[in-house]
Amino acid sequence: MLQNWTGRVQAAGATTEAARTEWTAAKAPKRHVKALLESMAHGAVRCMYCDDSRGTDIDHFQPLAVAPLRAFVWDNHLLACSFCNSNAKRDAYPVDADGVCLLVDPTVEDPAEHLFLMLHSGLYSHRTAKGEHTIRVFGLNRADLVAGRKDAFCLACSNLRDWHGLQQDDDDGLEADRVAQALLDSPFVDIVHAMARLDPGLAATVVGKRTVAALELWRSVYGS
Ligand SMILES: [Zn+2]
Repeated sequence: MLQNWTGRVQAAGATTEAARTEWTAAKAPKRHVKALLESMAHGAVRCMYCDDSRGTDIDHFQPLAVAPLRAFVWDNHLLACSFCNSNAKRDAYPVDADGVCLLVDPTVEDPAEHLFLMLHSGLYSHRTAKGEHTIRVFGLNRADLVAGRKDAFCLACSNLRDWHGLQQDDDDGLEADRVAQALLDSPFVDIVHAMARLDPGLAATVVGKRTVAALELWRSVYGS
């Protein structure tokens, strides 16, 4: 179905205007793509960029203004909230001197190779130029996300200690599993992954002595 619609864009001149016209008209493909993206989204259908708000829009990672023939290409579609899609990213698609995209593409790259989350401040820092551009273009350090991450870190430490306590009691294995699943389904799960990736030598300093034993057990069960 998507290939047929790409053919329509091609036949209409492969322009940005043609891509926008066909995309607007393509009700059935959009319904299918959105349903599939929603089934792949994290937790309660969170935005694939900020992991905070409900994913409402199909974002073209490579915008129609840059690549009209990728309007209907499956791996150019990501589920984004309206703020990330319409206020933050919009048609931004920075490239280097060789034309290589300077945004982390989460369909093929591990964002953790380019970005570093500072747990106490809730701010993202960059490891690479791609990471730097990604933070800027997606607004990953906007005030509401930073405040949300700080709260999420506080709650994740508390939930981890609760999970650890339940793990110690054989009778509560199912409840421990439920707490773990809720933690993994919650918004800002990048906090949990950043905690699991902490250098073991720094973990006690970052999460505190009360939480570090829980984090060590978490890593042995869920990995880093
Ligand atoms: Zn978002």
